[in-house]
Amino acid sequence: MDTQTLWQVVLADLEVQVTKVVFQTFLSHTKLLQLTDKLATIGCTQPLLINLIEKRYYQLIKKTLDSYTKTDTSLVFTALAAPSSKKQIEGPLFTLKLPSASPPHVVARLNPEYTFENFAVSSSNQMAYAAATAVAKKPGRAYNPLFIYGGVGVGKTHLIQAIGHAVLDNNPSAKLIYCTSEEFTNDIIEAIGNKTTVTFKKKYRHLNILLIDDIQFIAGKNAVQEEFFHTFNALQQVGGQVVLISDHPPEEIDKLEERLRSRFEGGLTIDVGSPDFELRCAILLIKAKQKDMHLPMEIAKIIAASVENPRKLEGILIRILSESKTRNLPVDEELVKIILGNSLKENIKKQTIKAEDVVHIVASYYNIKLSQLKGAKRDRSIAFPRQVLYYLLRSELNIPLAVIGDLLSGRDHTTILHGVRKVAELLSTNETIREDVMRIKHKLLG
Ligand code: ADP
Ligand code: MG
Repeated sequence: MDTQTLWQVVLADLEVQVTKVVFQTFLSHTKLLQLTDKLATIGCTQPLLINLIEKRYYQLIKKTLDSYTKTDTSLVFTALAAPSSKKQIEGPLFTLKLPSASPPHVVARLNPEYTFENFAVSSSNQMAYAAATAVAKKPGRAYNPLFIYGGVGVGKTHLIQAIGHAVLDNNPSAKLIYCTSEEFTNDIIEAIGNKTTVTFKKKYRHLNILLIDDIQFIAGKNAVQEEFFHTFNALQQVGGQVVLISDHPPEEIDKLEERLRSRFEGGLTIDVGSPDFELRCAILLIKAKQKDMHLPMEIAKIIAASVENPRKLEGILIRILSESKTRNLPVDEELVKIILGNSLKENIKKQTIKAEDVVHIVASYYNIKLSQLKGAKRDRSIAFPRQVLYYLLRSELNIPLAVIGDLLSGRDHTTILHGVRKVAELLSTNETIREDVMRIKHKLLG
């Protein structure tokens, strides 16, 4: 049997083993290019799908192929030029015309590694994780919308994409879009410019689930907020699930239309906190495993103790891996300490800055007494430094508004919020204030 015939047989066999949609979306784009001793090279005309095909159907394809070749074959996947570029030119509209197939461009946007299985859970993200899995199980019926917020690198994008994977795993023909709010914005602008708003509406208003990352960026853009509002309502009316990610809770997103704010707050709002030490260890072990890297527990602990940002964790793992390979060194404490060098120092410094230090530095910078700064007097010479203090506590130490209020003799969180916003705004317009805040930050870091 030549490779082409063999592959026809294998595909026919696969076709009866999976759903029609899975077959059409993923498997029908493959071709057996070469079969040597124990290696099958499989080409795929949808290069963006290769990762997903490999992840989800490797075993199935292998098992089926092996049953005909009676060998133990490994598979490698490679990109193939598409037979005709027509499909790509027609883009999303074309894929929407296939009612049962999930639009491949959407599926391909999900990072294959951002799944629930690869997500480590601890106290800082337990609630968000529970809500995300509930929504993935019953889109449109658990919490709608689900609004998740938190700082940089805490795993928000990972979590929202995991929802996407789980929904598609349960129902491969689910109509799903994952995008950032910037992509959503671009789509709107394009639709308005090309007078194709009907297409836009078709695309976004008939979904089972809409996942939008970094929604905070639509704030202040009127036409976009308007369109989003209608999309949101239309989707909810037909039972479509909406999941939103943001860096701040709805009430803290500046220039967000009031009606959107209240919609966002109408479902479940949950925060994801910074990962604690144990969670950072778990993340390291997961990432190491994905890279086939052996990472001893005690080494994971050293890294987790000195690096807080999960985004940096992965970068450091990659450096350790490449360093140990190129220099042929074991992954041990010595190597890790060399690589951590600077991060170690920076981190110790940051941890030692406590809220009290910030209060002292701000008071001395503006030359006012601690008691005045913490007190209730509202003279401008004191009120403004106080607002700078709120701002620094919020932005540098990431302290929640309510806690800042408590620290400063029980002010309520709207007062704090007002101050934080005011300073944030002045920073973008007022040179002097920008310099003041910079100087204070320098003092903080010593
Ligand atoms: P965010 O969107 O909140 O800024 P990301 O989702 O991009 O953060 O996460 C940054 C990195 O950290 C990603 O590589 C992600 O996989 C990883 N990460 C964060 N939290 C977790 C977690 N709980 N389990 C596994 N990986 C995590
Ligand atoms: Mg993100």
